[in-house]
Amino acid sequence: MHSRARHLGHKAIAYAAMALAAFSLPLHTASAQSILRDAETEALLTDMAAPLVEAADLEPGNVDMVLINDPSINAFVAGGQAVYMHSGLLDAADSALEVQGVIAHELGHITGGHVVRFSEGASAASNISILSLLLGVGAALAGAGEAAIGVIQAGQRAALGKFLAFNRAQESSADAAGAKYLSDAGISGRGSLDFFGKLRNQEFRYGYSQDDDTAFTRTHPLSGDRIATLRESYIIDPAWDTPVDPDLQARFVRVKAKLYGYQSKPEQTLRKYPQSDTSVPARYARAYAYHKNALVDAALVEADALLAVDPDDPYFLELKGQILLESGRPADALAPLRQATLLSRNQPLIASMFGHALIATEDESNFAEAEQVLRAAVARDRLNPFAWYQLGVVYAAKGDQPRARLASAEQQVMTRRYPDAIRSAQVAEAGLEPGTPDWIRAQDIALQARAALEQIRDNN
Ligand SMILES: [Zn+2]
Repeated sequence: MHSRARHLGHKAIAYAAMALAAFSLPLHTASAQSILRDAETEALLTDMAAPLVEAADLEPGNVDMVLINDPSINAFVAGGQAVYMHSGLLDAADSALEVQGVIAHELGHITGGHVVRFSEGASAASNISILSLLLGVGAALAGAGEAAIGVIQAGQRAALGKFLAFNRAQESSADAAGAKYLSDAGISGRGSLDFFGKLRNQEFRYGYSQDDDTAFTRTHPLSGDRIATLRESYIIDPAWDTPVDPDLQARFVRVKAKLYGYQSKPEQTLRKYPQSDTSVPARYARAYAYHKNALVDAALVEADALLAVDPDDPYFLELKGQILLESGRPADALAPLRQATLLSRNQPLIASMFGHALIATEDESNFAEAEQVLRAAVARDRLNPFAWYQLGVVYAAKGDQPRARLASAEQQVMTRRYPDAIRSAQVAEAGLEPGTPDWIRAQDIALQARAALEQIRDNN
């Protein structure tokens, strides 16, 4: 689990301040809409979506699943090939099948080319803020820079889902497409029916999810006909009686508990997952509850109990490393994070946390490894401003100013600080050996930033 918002400088970080690293924002921003980034959750959503994306004939790597930190129950598509899902929806769903039913429907909106319209009541001004919000989402997807988070908060939670609405014809067509994708993927439509049925009856009275006048039914007008029509097509499908994939379901329950521990008040989590419950999901949730309360030892007991179940689970290792790192023990965090990085085959969010821990030791003998890890992370996911920031710290510590400036330029162009990016790229270019890949990269960044500035100028 990973936090970017607080990881801004190894000396300046107040580890004890409890960033709850997992996801990308500290808790006090819970009322604002923000993106949650967590390697395990993202992997689960991607795997849940994969067979449906394939059935929809969309490019597999091209559909982003974006988790929004919002307790209301909603999911929507907006701009490009991305499905946005509120954390409250995952909380409200009881099975992976329900979430897959929602994903299938959302993919139906994407393949239908349904242009998002702004519902009545949204003024021109709010349209603008929605636009900047979506830009912010794009930037945050690219790695959740501070700038992106700022933009998202500026747009306020009122934006995104609230003003987006599809019309009835679009809803029917997304339903039909979704039903086809479920069928082609051999996934039962039961989950979809269960979930829409619950929405309709507003049966959400538990967990941290809020029905919020059921945001979902506002973005996707839900009628009795819709459910009846869906039932007719699902019930005759060969996959109707196919049970949920047990592996996916187990992962779903785990992620749900993890999110619950992250989102809820610790006392709420401890009520729902009391000590007597020694299941993996319960321990996962409690580890976060204790971590949130700065009960480091109790959090570590849960993390160790999880590791006793599976010592090679990269996410358990990540959890332990995160607790140690954020409680001011970066040196102790190295072993679990190193192993988590290895076992996750350099998952970029996990690797960035490991790189951060290496740097946070303030021990220069760790910097070479930090450089190697962070370089591998950006090689796999170049759009990771946090990793670039950390790399810049390593280069600067080595006295390699040109590469430090190049790393800054990477970070700045991603967070849309174009004038800064141009300046950094120019300084980098002047100090790098002409013709080398880094020198060429510095030129490319300057070009990219200038082009972006021109486009902004043309739009105004
Ligand atoms: Zn819809």
